Amino acid sequence: MPLYEYKCDKCGTAFEELVAAEKKDDKLACPNCGSTETKRQFSSFAIGGSKQSGSLPSCATSSCSTGTCPYV
Ligand SMILES: [Zn+2]
Repeated sequence: MPLYEYKCDKCGTAFEELVAAEKKDDKLACPNCGSTETKRQFSSFAIGGSKQSGSLPSCATSSCSTGTCPYV
């Protein structure tokens, strides 16, 4: 069974769970707060890795020279 990573929307706890492929989209209860508002996280290597330019969002203005202004 594949190991999936989930994150709780309520308390932010990230946890991993062995889940059968056909059940991977089921709601799992958070081990910390018990909330079922959890989301499956996509593995970083599955998204296409090289786009790791930090946590700054892309700048929306074309006149910006850095392209990564935190405030736009
Ligand atoms: Zn939680």
